[in-house]
Amino acid sequence: MTATSTATRVLVLNSGSSSLKYQLLDMCDGDTPGSDLPDSHAPGGDPQAGGRLAQGLVERIGERTSRLQHTPADGATRERGGPIADHDAALKAVAAELARDGLGLDSPELAAIGHRVVHGGRSFTEPTVIDGAVLAEIERLIPVAPLHNPANLTGIRTAMALRPDLPQVAVFDTAFHTTMPESAARYALDAETADRYRVRRYGFHGTSHAFVSRATAALLGKAPRDVNVIVLHLGNGASASAVRAGRCVDTSMGLTPLEGLVMGTRSGDLDPAVIFHLMRVGEMSADEIDNLLNKRSGLIGLCGDNDMREIRRRVDEGDEQARLAFDIYIHRLKKYIGAYYAVLGRVDAIAFTAGVGENAAPVRAAAVADLGELGIVVDAGLNEARARGPRLISPPSARVAVAVVPTDEELEIATQTYALVGKSGSEKN
Ligand code: AMP
Repeated sequence: MTATSTATRVLVLNSGSSSLKYQLLDMCDGDTPGSDLPDSHAPGGDPQAGGRLAQGLVERIGERTSRLQHTPADGATRERGGPIADHDAALKAVAAELARDGLGLDSPELAAIGHRVVHGGRSFTEPTVIDGAVLAEIERLIPVAPLHNPANLTGIRTAMALRPDLPQVAVFDTAFHTTMPESAARYALDAETADRYRVRRYGFHGTSHAFVSRATAALLGKAPRDVNVIVLHLGNGASASAVRAGRCVDTSMGLTPLEGLVMGTRSGDLDPAVIFHLMRVGEMSADEIDNLLNKRSGLIGLCGDNDMREIRRRVDEGDEQARLAFDIYIHRLKKYIGAYYAVLGRVDAIAFTAGVGENAAPVRAAAVADLGELGIVVDAGLNEARARGPRLISPPSARVAVAVVPTDEELEIATQTYALVGKSGSEKN
């Protein structure tokens, strides 16, 4: 199954422009996720599976105020301040922290490093072992992901320099959505222009949608191929997907993560003519509008807060601006539930996930309110109960199961990485 009988650990790296998030997982701890999988798409069977040996974050890389926060398995977080010049220094600092816990990156137990890569375009439909050609292709996709892919590449190159002998695997946010039919993936644009500039709907948060749709099937005691699920990933970024028999058939994010739902700071769907209007009448530049729509819109633009906890607190105090922001957020969400119900024809489950989806009972209740005619009902007691782990919040008699399913993108990346490295025999290790 693995590279060697002892190599069962996977280091997951999520490299941003000035940050590096990481987790070290042991894939043979307990119920190994992915071990009985027929394909490289990992299961969402048991979100608690996969032993988490350590996790952490390096922030403000390149600044004088960099910070490393490292949490080993015993939960005793360690922090380190002081400048960390670049991603190379950041990864070396992480390696030093791991070594303190006896988990050094030179350990023969490390099977592979799994990298989150935001944009895989149409080129990457599955997790992929990284070589020169893969690096070049991720680089070629920079024009469609100018913020993310360069940072992801930096993380990959740094890790490859540190452990050139180890398999490094790219797991793409877009890959799960490459099964969308052309009717969902294409915009109604002039075809030649769209092709020339690779303008189409790619979708994001794919590792989360993959994980949660499978975990939802497991919660229902069914195989993914036997269920149709609407997944609502509601975090600071938010996206919905329609998953038929384990395959994504539509998702709300498009060429970039701007399309779709109302998010913490992004507008989501908009009449494209708003942009021309702001250019012509508002005399704003493309960069200014980009910043407006990505950073100063959505919940924060509507009411000055992007944290749903704060918005709910204000709503409860009678704040009208917060109420309107909440209502706009819910209205959009409900429209997508309706749209994906129609796309799927038959819906077995609706799964709420990510920071808002997992924690905000009022959002869940409002999003499915008055949908009883569609078989969608939530039990108020179950919805409001504080609980961890995947759970149903609909009454047992409901036609459509409504569920809260915690996402775990790192476990999904580790599982996909481990499944791939195990399959290919890890000839590099
Ligand atoms: P994520 O991007 O998945 O980490 O989600 C982050 C968002 O989750 C925050 O901006 C909050 O809006 C939301 N969130 C986290 N905890 C709660 C909570 N207890 N109640 C409501 N919203 C929450």
